[in-house]
Amino acid sequence: MSEHIHARELAAGEVIFREGDPGDDAYILERGRIEISIGDDGARRVIAELGPGEIFGEMALIANAPRSATAATLEPCTLLVLRRNRLLKPIETADPIMRLTIQMMVERLNDATRWKAGQPSMSQGSEAQRRAFAEVREIALRRIRTERELRRAIEKDELTLHYQPVFSVADGRIAGYEALMRWNHPEQGFVAPGDFIPLAEESGMVVEMGRWALERGLEEHAAIAAVLSTVDRGSPPPFISVNVSAAQLADLSEIDRFAGIIQAAGADPGQIKLEITESLMAADPDHAAEALGRLKDLGVSLAIDDFGTGYSSLSYLHRFPMDTLKIDRSFVSRMNHDMSSRLLVRTIVDLAADLGLDTVAEGVESPDEYDELAALGCGYGQGFLMARPMPSGELRAMLARWGADWRRWAEVAGQEPA
Ligand code: C2E
Ligand code: CA
Ligand code: CA
Repeated sequence: MSEHIHARELAAGEVIFREGDPGDDAYILERGRIEISIGDDGARRVIAELGPGEIFGEMALIANAPRSATAATLEPCTLLVLRRNRLLKPIETADPIMRLTIQMMVERLNDATRWKAGQPSMSQGSEAQRRAFAEVREIALRRIRTERELRRAIEKDELTLHYQPVFSVADGRIAGYEALMRWNHPEQGFVAPGDFIPLAEESGMVVEMGRWALERGLEEHAAIAAVLSTVDRGSPPPFISVNVSAAQLADLSEIDRFAGIIQAAGADPGQIKLEITESLMAADPDHAAEALGRLKDLGVSLAIDDFGTGYSSLSYLHRFPMDTLKIDRSFVSRMNHDMSSRLLVRTIVDLAADLGLDTVAEGVESPDEYDELAALGCGYGQGFLMARPMPSGELRAMLARWGADWRRWAEVAGQEPA
């Protein structure tokens, strides 16, 4: 903080900044009086006199424009200087709608000041300024639109979940399944999660959608697990994996909502796995540790998704209470072509074993990959070789007809045209 804010002492009659200067700092007047004026020296007009406690010079920073007035001390003054970043960082990371509002307010305030002083309006602004406004407005509008569409998607039941089974590599039997979101858009048809999850994250709607996914997932999990228990007697109950984006955990109170949803569903938390990407841990490790600890307290287990693609650092692994590593598809699919990918998969599997974690290989597409994973001792596999994501009804039907072993599924798929 201190590097961003420091005090400055000025004598009477000093110019703090001049009209047209670049706006790098804003100021809080601690002691003394200053005068704000506009116009050239021939026709200078004082538009304000400020006293202790007032802030000035912030408008040029926010509007990203040159100073629209000159500030000079009337008596000895103490100023607190706010560096550009101190003021702009929070604004830049603020909600785009909030940002737009602040910028418009500054623009209007600027206009009002100039109007009062009998000067032409600036709201036409410079080309760069206009472009910046247009950009922020565009982001804000897109976000409002997406938010509305996604809200409607939840209300109108346009979202569904598909389930991709996860198999135990050693015996080929289903161990659980991952719930993957699908959006059936009324005009655009099927929209892939890769296209709408990022928008949902940006607009904040992912929080609500994530609650929906947990709720719906647990409901359908009960039905799938019931079928499995009749075809695979004596085997442990399957787990359901639900993806949780870092944005959902920004506010820790969301974890209480999770607890409520799990309780209302009457689900056994021991059967729930939450998949979280490394971005959560990289962005703010302290916050992540707190969030993950609280999630663990619910009794659920935790998986790191797409392991190896992000900021993977071994130090994360013992700092966070994880249960499972999901090896990213990109390594699995290169495993049989390049040595370094195979070495990486081997290292991850060994490392996980040393730390007492399970491993799931994602994106298993070929029998060779499957065999290799078995040889490396990778616990679980998920991929198009064994099964694609499918609606819950279809998964229940597969289990009821063909049992829990994917190799049986593959046999029948070979006989029956898909
Ligand atoms: P992910 O969590 O890594 O999910 C695995 C993705 O890999 C799924 O894509 C799945 O269909 C695909 N996949 C599985 N096996 C194979 C394979 O053998 N080959 C290939 N080429 N692909 C395979 P999907 O369903 O399109 O989901 C994409 C991403 O969207 C997910 O990646 C996840 O990050 C996100 N996502 C999906 N559902 C949710 C959700 O409910 N909440 C959140 N926050 N994110 C979700
Ligand atoms: Ca996942
Ligand atoms: Ca993944």
